[in-house]
Amino acid sequence: MASRPLSQKQLRARREELEAERAQLLEQVAELDAEADVNNWREGGFDDDPADAGSASFERETAQSLSNHARGLLTQIDDALRRMDAGRYGTCERCGEKIEPDRLEALPYATLCMTCKRREETGR
Ligand SMILES: [Zn+2]
Repeated sequence: MASRPLSQKQLRARREELEAERAQLLEQVAELDAEADVNNWREGGFDDDPADAGSASFERETAQSLSNHARGLLTQIDDALRRMDAGRYGTCERCGEKIEPDRLEALPYATLCMTCKRREETGR
């Protein structure tokens, strides 16, 4: 299981990917927040129609939870970018080993190696 650190070139490419994703997520969050707001505003107008009010509030909750999810991803991306700056990107936060390249490919902002992640999920 030879795991070499990412080359500078790979790191740069990864950073660009993360920054692109970050920009996309920021846009998404702005849209979702606007949606949640509009629905909030509309809901007030449906006081005498519980069905509409219900679906408006459902939509608002959906937008809010999507927005929260996107924010969570943003935090992780920011974190990954910070780790790149610090030269710690791709290193497991728990055991200090290199995170498997396949895992980083699938989850560019992973902070734990496969072993530690599994340990965390199974409650150590
Ligand atoms: Zn680890």
